[in-house]
Amino acid sequence: MKDYIEIDNLIVFANHGVYDEEKKMGERFMISLKLYTDITTAAKTDDITKSINYGEVCEFVTDFTKTHRAKLIERAGEELAYALLKKYPTLSGVEVQFKKPWAPIGLPVDNVLVNVTREKTVAYIGLGSNMGDKKAYLDKAIERLNNDYCKVLKVSNYIETAPVGDVPQDNFINACAEVETVLPPYELLSLLNEIEAEAGRVREIHWGPRTLDLDLLLYGNEVISTEKLTVPHMEMAKREFVLRPLAEIAPYAVHPLKGKRVAELLEELEK
Ligand code: ADP
Ligand code: MG
Repeated sequence: MKDYIEIDNLIVFANHGVYDEEKKMGERFMISLKLYTDITTAAKTDDITKSINYGEVCEFVTDFTKTHRAKLIERAGEELAYALLKKYPTLSGVEVQFKKPWAPIGLPVDNVLVNVTREKTVAYIGLGSNMGDKKAYLDKAIERLNNDYCKVLKVSNYIETAPVGDVPQDNFINACAEVETVLPPYELLSLLNEIEAEAGRVREIHWGPRTLDLDLLLYGNEVISTEKLTVPHMEMAKREFVLRPLAEIAPYAVHPLKGKRVAELLEELEK
């Protein structure tokens, strides 16, 4: 669905800037927005309350931009994008163009701008623990996954599973969660790592015991292939302790590389 409402070049006088002069004097910024939202109900009912009121958006953007000072328009643009997604639940995504036409460059240039797109994506997280109060570690992780940037939509049952690999260790408790997040993939990974660190996770033995392991299994239908982050998670299709809880909450979810649904992957593994 690619419907959007566009706002073009809203002018806001604000004080973003790296230099003291800019901070003191202020200058004009121009802000353009694409507000991605399903307009079908508004079109059908012809009712403003079923849409996003662009007049109200302009007022919100003006107020937010004046009161949230940043040095960089990168930051100003991203903060605005997140604030809009939080304020308007019917937004599926937003593109913000933050322009600084009077940037102090000293050379003839029409415009300098930053373009930020943030959108809601459904992702699946695998959770595991095999040390200490395992259930409490999983509960806490779910609690921490609910924040301004991420909402937990579904959680599977917690299941007890035997450890895989050669390291002798205690049984695991595993689960999966469905989240809706506005964070880009690497930011979501950072959040997962932060929550692991808070749970006292130390990476000593590879595949060894851990208080909390949070793996990003699926992120929309994206494929990411770097050393730091591989999505879909490398091992997910081979692991029953991942597929079983995942199939409970999202049997229809698709593994974009295998081209199969989670329910089918589990069936194949159980054969
Ligand atoms: P494992 O989960 O395989 O036992 P770790 O939790 O210690 O191992 O993760 C090791 C590294 O794997 C992390 O530092 C992280 O950068 C990387 N990684 C790559 N892809 C993912 C992913 N999809 N989810 C979580 N971590 C990932
Ligand atoms: Mg991990």
